[in-house]
Amino acid sequence: MSPDVRPDLLSLTPDMLHQTLEEHFASRGQPGYRAGQVQKWIYEGLAHSIDEMTDLPASERAALVEVFRIDEPVADTVQRSEDGTVKHLWRLSDGELVESVLIPTERRLTLCISSQVGCAMGCTFCATGWGGFDRHLSAGEIAGQYRASRRWAEQHDYGAISNIVYMGMGEPLANRKAIHPSLTILNQGYGVGARRITVSTVGVVPGIVELANRPEQFKLALSLHAPSGELRRDLIPLEKRYPLPEVLAALERFDDGGGKRITFEYTMIDGVNDAPELIGPLGDLALRVRAFVNLIPFNPIPYQSWGPSKPNRIRDFEQGLAKRGVSVAVRETRGQDIDAACGQLRGHTLVQIDEKRART
Ligand code: SF4
Repeated sequence: MSPDVRPDLLSLTPDMLHQTLEEHFASRGQPGYRAGQVQKWIYEGLAHSIDEMTDLPASERAALVEVFRIDEPVADTVQRSEDGTVKHLWRLSDGELVESVLIPTERRLTLCISSQVGCAMGCTFCATGWGGFDRHLSAGEIAGQYRASRRWAEQHDYGAISNIVYMGMGEPLANRKAIHPSLTILNQGYGVGARRITVSTVGVVPGIVELANRPEQFKLALSLHAPSGELRRDLIPLEKRYPLPEVLAALERFDDGGGKRITFEYTMIDGVNDAPELIGPLGDLALRVRAFVNLIPFNPIPYQSWGPSKPNRIRDFEQGLAKRGVSVAVRETRGQDIDAACGQLRGHTLVQIDEKRART
């Protein structure tokens, strides 16, 4: 099947979408307000298809379909955890699979989205890293996870999505061509506040600088996982390309604008990165860039024998950091009964597909 070359309306930033639609309707002698009608269907109506845009004449809908498409991911699998966490495996138009996770808490509904199919970074603690890289997602495929998840959440009494984190499959800042427009689309198109959107990175320095230079107050989470380059290198191969001092220098370009914009993610792995002597250096780094520290008990993955740090070790880190004046929290592990460690659901599905193929 030849690829569909029609532009995906979901991949255009609101300004580009408006201009593109205005030009399209002008070329057909249609009034300018038609562009606004389509935009409303996309951002407010969350229309799956152009055919749903019933306030446009049928001839105009047919003309739009000839030129454009709406390429939203389709749910392949939905898993709901006992704790309310919901994991979607989305099938993209070329058959590739990506995951997103809805995480409800008392005051928030957070959506964790993917930015790539697989990941090239090869972090040793991550299921996606072990699976390798397939391709980048488009801006529309990234925003599409939000649209489809929002619709699901509304239909299942989960309420409104309050926060978005780019912490699913892939390294977002390795796909900046799509990440930047996707941030604009989520913020300006769907109205998600910049301070409610967090981009996570393992330390892609040029991407951190670009994000810091954007006028919006998007938040950044650095997957730190070790306070020294030597130890970090064993967990995150990218450390060799962008060593910790360079990453920290880039983080210093973030103006916190009165609120904490940087978070350190620190996955605590038993006997790997939880020695008490690491608390001091970790605290120093956090204070240097005014980062909030999330301590995350390691969620075991199929390819590793590692386990989470013991609860008393995690407590020592939490108290030790707090004593040094660092803002810190222990993040509970959510959705363990539904393969919630990133990349696991896709990994299992691919194994099942392979097994099925082998049987046929
Ligand atoms: S932790 Fe993130 S960057 Fe590292 S391999 Fe996993 S998805 Fe990629």
